[in-house]
Amino acid sequence: MEKANQAEVAIIGGGIVGCAIAYYVAKAGIDCMLIEKNDIASGTSSKCDGNITIVDKDPGFDSQMSLVSQELTTELGDDLDLPFEYRALGSILVCENDAEMEAAVEWVKIQNEAGLRFKVLDQADIKQESPYFADDLPGGLECETDSLINPYLFCYSLIDKAKAYGLKLHTHAEVKGITKQDDFKIDTEKGTFRAKKVVNAAGVWAPFIGEMLGIDIPIKPRKGHIIVGARQKPIMMRNVMEFGYLMNKFERERVADARTMEHGVALVLEPTESQNFLLGSSRQFVGYDSSVDMQVVETMARRAMRFFPKMEDFNMIRTYTGFRPWTADHLPIVSAVEEMPGFYIAAGHEGDGISLATVTGKLIEALLCEKETIIPVNPLRFDRFTKTPVS
Ligand SMILES: Cc1cc2nc3c(=O)[nH]c(=O)nc-3n(C[C@H](O)[C@H](O)[C@H](O)COP(=O)(O)OP(=O)(O)OC[C@H]3O[C@@H](n4cnc5c(N)ncnc54)[C@H](O)[C@@H]3O)c2cc1C
Repeated sequence: MEKANQAEVAIIGGGIVGCAIAYYVAKAGIDCMLIEKNDIASGTSSKCDGNITIVDKDPGFDSQMSLVSQELTTELGDDLDLPFEYRALGSILVCENDAEMEAAVEWVKIQNEAGLRFKVLDQADIKQESPYFADDLPGGLECETDSLINPYLFCYSLIDKAKAYGLKLHTHAEVKGITKQDDFKIDTEKGTFRAKKVVNAAGVWAPFIGEMLGIDIPIKPRKGHIIVGARQKPIMMRNVMEFGYLMNKFERERVADARTMEHGVALVLEPTESQNFLLGSSRQFVGYDSSVDMQVVETMARRAMRFFPKMEDFNMIRTYTGFRPWTADHLPIVSAVEEMPGFYIAAGHEGDGISLATVTGKLIEALLCEKETIIPVNPLRFDRFTKTPVS
């Protein structure tokens, strides 16, 4: 077999998670290859926003893991050669009413107690963020460490450097079947590959890769729409979400109109480096149907106008959808699979894959090398879904 077709480690999936793993594994000097069905970043990682945030993470393990990932992403700026539009400006959550404001104050307290840099913003602060904000918004909160990247460029930047460290890259090579004897035999559209270890980083398609080896991976696609705003005078400089975003994401009780609830809509606005802006968000379980639903788009536009009334006059240029790889407890699976030695899963990052890609890459590298991990991996284990707790 050709040398290019075999490696110690094969990573399946060239989204942001697979690219980050490829980078850390290749940098560690491990012989590795990445196998991608289409092009790099052709899945969810090019159909999303680029927020590296703690502001929308549950206090505790979720927030702490995100902080580590933020720090790793910042460090990468020194090692990667291709720019990826990194901007560390912090991000804000805006409240619609006094009840949300009360909850926001409590949220800041909890995050501060955990050592995270959160701050309450009053009405005047909010107005300073953007002159376009509605006059009646009572305030919000800020997370100072949050940052933004262009996920598409980041993937290519990681792969560029991983190749320099020795990664073998196979694109347009859809994995069709995997068998395991001594090592893994991976059948693809571009021939057969062999590896001692396999990392399944196929995002919402990870369950199909699992199925090939008889492993049931509980990840579901949670569809999201994005509207792209035309280039114009900046609306604001940093990312903003509404407080209700947290309720949607974590499937908690929320007060909103029926359409907003049905489509899982909450405001997210990301200003891009090129002065466009990305407007979100929606959350729906509708399988793998990627078509744009104009009713959802309309609900999102209405929601945006609640916070930015002037947006009625702004031009929007296109819409698209992506699939968040959802798990039931809102944490990714970053884990070895006990019943299949040599097989690892790095998937299920839902709406956090951009935020958590670097920490995931670093964790998988440590798991492959059987060395100490940068954060505890117990909450991310695959068997949390397969083992019934002893009562
Ligand atoms: C609207 C929207 C907004 C979002 N905004 C944010 C945000 O601001 N911040 C944040 O942190 N996260 C955000 N997310 C979530 C984030 O985009 C995802 O968690 C992340 O992109 C998942 O990356 P991934 O590498 O796991 O999956 P993907 O990017 O989907 O990569 C998986 C890859 O596997 C490949 N593949 C599949 N099957 C095979 C096969 N058989 N053989 C070979 N290759 C295969 C696919 O082609 C694909 O390229 C958002 C998501 C959406 C939908």
